[in-house]
Amino acid sequence: MTNIERAMMEEVYLTETDLLIIGGGSAGCMAAIRARELKPDLEITIFEKEDIKYSGSIARGMDALNIVSIPNLTTPELYVESMGLSCQGVLDEPASYKMAERSFALLKKLEGWGVHFPLDSSGNYRTLKYHVKGKFQAAMQEPDLKVMISQRALAGRTKVFNRVMGLELLLDDGRVSGAVGLNVRTGELVVCKAKAVIVTSGGQARFSLPNSGYLYGVFDFPGNTGDGFLMCYRAGASLTGMEATQSPVLIKDANMPLLAITVTRGARVLDFFNNIIMENEVDNIHLMNEAHEKGHGPVRVRLSHLEESLIQEIEEILFTTERPVQERFFKNRGIDFRRSDIELWPTEHQLCGGHGISGVRVNEKAETGVPGLYAAGDVASVPKQHLTGAFVFGEIAAEEAVNFMDRYPENPTLDWSKIEQEIKKRNLCANAKGDIEVREIEYKVRRFIGDYVVGLKNEQKLKRWLQWAEVFRKELNEQTRAENGHELSKTYEVENIIQCASLSATASLERKESRWGTSHRRVDYPERDDKNYLCHIVLKKGDGPYEIKCSRATVVKMNWATKGEDRS
Ligand SMILES: Cc1cc2nc3c(=O)[nH]c(=O)nc-3n(C[C@H](O)[C@H](O)[C@H](O)COP(=O)(O)OP(=O)(O)OC[C@H]3O[C@@H](n4cnc5c(N)ncnc54)[C@H](O)[C@@H]3O)c2cc1C
Repeated sequence: MTNIERAMMEEVYLTETDLLIIGGGSAGCMAAIRARELKPDLEITIFEKEDIKYSGSIARGMDALNIVSIPNLTTPELYVESMGLSCQGVLDEPASYKMAERSFALLKKLEGWGVHFPLDSSGNYRTLKYHVKGKFQAAMQEPDLKVMISQRALAGRTKVFNRVMGLELLLDDGRVSGAVGLNVRTGELVVCKAKAVIVTSGGQARFSLPNSGYLYGVFDFPGNTGDGFLMCYRAGASLTGMEATQSPVLIKDANMPLLAITVTRGARVLDFFNNIIMENEVDNIHLMNEAHEKGHGPVRVRLSHLEESLIQEIEEILFTTERPVQERFFKNRGIDFRRSDIELWPTEHQLCGGHGISGVRVNEKAETGVPGLYAAGDVASVPKQHLTGAFVFGEIAAEEAVNFMDRYPENPTLDWSKIEQEIKKRNLCANAKGDIEVREIEYKVRRFIGDYVVGLKNEQKLKRWLQWAEVFRKELNEQTRAENGHELSKTYEVENIIQCASLSATASLERKESRWGTSHRRVDYPERDDKNYLCHIVLKKGDGPYEIKCSRATVVKMNWATKGEDRS
């Protein structure tokens, strides 16, 4: 070790592990659990931006596993067919197939841990219709799911660094060799050397502003700011689906979900004229956005026609499992489901591989194309994989990472020049004395994303964003101050939000057609064009720091005879 390297060591907290997991949510916890099952002596380290006990999309509990292929009821083949329709053909089938194939074993595993899956009157698992085809949603009642899986993840010698945000992956001759993180309270840098890395840091929840105007009042976990998309992208992985900017339609002023719980149980979504725009399945969210845009809103969920027992079942789930605060919210507003409709509004746009299709391009082995680097859950593009995908691909990523470490057991070398760059950058940001507060610039950036990158798109708007991105980067670097570790971490987050928007704008420019309902509408190319765009728009990092390389890739089909990828 040189003197300079030794000096740098004094500036960072240095640690070493076999497997590093970045993000301790659903996929990250499951990856740790599976890796420990396979190798009880493995050194496992988790970087978690918040506190692993309650962080991530689950936060507390959850009411359904949205994709379970239950034998004799549905099949993985039917799931792939359903997903193909839902994604309008832009789907790599083998990954979705693999997930559905393993989904029932997952349910059984969770049940073995004590997770409750209610049965119907015939003694079968209670299933609901969420997708266009097949009843793949399995009801689940587990108010303590996150606590349960985080405790299991931390069993054995697994070490968690809570409040550490992954910033950059480290490479050794093309192979992943660890990561640099930032303590979001103290601003200290943490360097973790690792033989393999699994990125499970969720999607991009803080994209455009929610209609409530609150920075963090978003549908998905607000700590997820696309960091994982960018860590993988900067390390050489590809992104896909970044043009699919999805906007959920949520409870007005609470931005909490309820469609999957109510509509699947017989509730109806109505427009202003009392036309039924959604009933029994929840796949066509864009119909609500469209009704709203035509001025036929506010759209409402109606439960009053349901039997009392069903209303009580819905209340029980809503008020105990996913967001228990809903009970107080509705009570304070005098809303009784027996008499009152629930008003919904479209809100912020997000980028996500869990509810949407955006993320790191992975195959059915959760491989990213960078040796030793895997991605799972909402950070990865396995379209609409939900919690099932986070759990299944958390497991698959762990299996593949363990396999990789067996094949390449040698210790990688740390890239100190990269670490030095990160120290310099952190010091620059930490000492910045500008007059803009980081929250102010985040507000403005996200307002502009709403104006230029999402909603109705056209070439001029998208190109305007790319110009604005340069202005915002300059303001962030030169005029924004960070007065403590927390604000410092926000600076990195805003940088990532800007870059995600540029990736999204670039992909949107390339996809000169309209597809996926309201998620990608080019007013200058209003029609769907399967001839030219039944493909992925793939983004890779160019040579310059912000240069984006854009290309198209064909979708990967299943070979149904071999149940593998069709290489014909
Ligand atoms: C409100 C809501 C309701 C849902 N309901 C259902 C349902 O009923 N059924 C279903 O199947 N699916 C549901 N889903 C989807 C499902 O919860 C998600 O797809 C799944 O939990 C995603 O898991 P994940 O591990 O990828 O992300 P998360 O669980 O969100 O975890 C990401 C973790 O990474 C951490 N992190 C972020 N950035 C960094 C960084 N830079 N460094 C370190 N850590 C970082 C975060 O703090 C977080 O802990 C729901 C999602 C939401 C938001």
